[in-house]
Amino acid sequence: MKILVLNSGSSSLKFQLFLQEDLSVLASGLIEQIGDLKSAAQLSFVDAAGNEQEYHNNEPVPDHRTAIGVMAEMLRESGMLTDMEELSGIGHRVVHGGESFHQPVRIDGDVIGAIRKLIPLAPLHNPANLIGIEVAMEQVSHIPQVAVFDTAFHQSIPEHAYLYALPFELYEKQKVRRYGFHGTSHSYVARQAAHYLERPIEEINSITLHLGNGASAAAIQGGKCIDTTMGMTPLEGLVMGTRSGDLDPAIIFYLSREMGLDIEELDTLLNKKSGLKGICGENDMRTISEAAEQGDQQARLALAIFCYRLKKYIGAYMAALGGVDCIVFTGGIGENAAVVRRLCCQGLERLGIRLDEEKNNIRQKEILEIHAADSPVSLLVIPTDEEYEIARQTMQIINTL
Ligand code: AMP
Repeated sequence: MKILVLNSGSSSLKFQLFLQEDLSVLASGLIEQIGDLKSAAQLSFVDAAGNEQEYHNNEPVPDHRTAIGVMAEMLRESGMLTDMEELSGIGHRVVHGGESFHQPVRIDGDVIGAIRKLIPLAPLHNPANLIGIEVAMEQVSHIPQVAVFDTAFHQSIPEHAYLYALPFELYEKQKVRRYGFHGTSHSYVARQAAHYLERPIEEINSITLHLGNGASAAAIQGGKCIDTTMGMTPLEGLVMGTRSGDLDPAIIFYLSREMGLDIEELDTLLNKKSGLKGICGENDMRTISEAAEQGDQQARLALAIFCYRLKKYIGAYMAALGGVDCIVFTGGIGENAAVVRRLCCQGLERLGIRLDEEKNNIRQKEILEIHAADSPVSLLVIPTDEEYEIARQTMQIINTL
């Protein structure tokens, strides 16, 4: 039997098909620009002879219903899924589970209603996730479907860490609190780290750094998250590709008064025009690190600000955890940008964080150990795999049915 993982965005559908037995990947695909005249569908898989194959289809995909049809057709043609009945379950990525979901759940009418109720907390993401769920539920309602939430892993954060110092009724009535995101990735790499270190996850403290275009850190004690940098929305915390991360909220009042910016303009400024892009005009870390190496001052500054914020949170989370056994780097930047790993560990030797520069420059797809032999804290680069984690959690739920 097989498990299908769906990640439905507002104009895209990402999917991956797993063999249930060992959760090996059979096929993965992406349909982009749904709703456009020009859509792009792509599927990769390994054929029976062991050769990597790719299918492309550029016919217009007007909506998500058609996208699911296109996906099913591509999977059929590839021979990887000849009939939907081969599926034992479908796992859906859902961005916001609010306080309603602490773990993955089997989807039914009530769950769909609860995800819909959470739309004000994630107005861009939850509606897109829901479309995928509703179409899949309509088409194969008898196959168990599971929702896996980006926020769920952070629901173990204690209230002194998730509450803001605002009038308490804003939490009670408006649900204003820290939720955190990237939970599936933080949870996956923390488990992988414990496995790699051959220690029970219950016995170790780790700081996981998910550094992609969006970036967040999490403090994990005995496998449970006790704090994370993203807040009520993904805007808080680390410097990101185009998001500012932490800043003095009074800047917003100042800009509104002095420049007459309205709420929409401020939202765009902080979410789309700030972060690395705001500082140096670029949000791609590859370009920035190359420019910095060639002496571009603005790129150097962007890199320095990014890494300094990261270093501050490493220190903060060491304090929150009362000591750390392991720091994990993941995400496009965490997995690939050696310079970022070097700069954010620089000067932390007295805290037990000792990087081995040579190991740090190695590139490999598997888990990479980058600490010096005498480092009390293990430093690991672990490729994230959110789809695998969704498939694993989906299977866990299916096994309880
Ligand atoms: P993600 O959102 O996880 O896909 O990560 C995207 C970020 O990873 C972008 O800022 C990319 O520039 C960065 N990235 C990907 N590959 C590399 C690389 N080889 N070196 C530096 N940054 C990279």
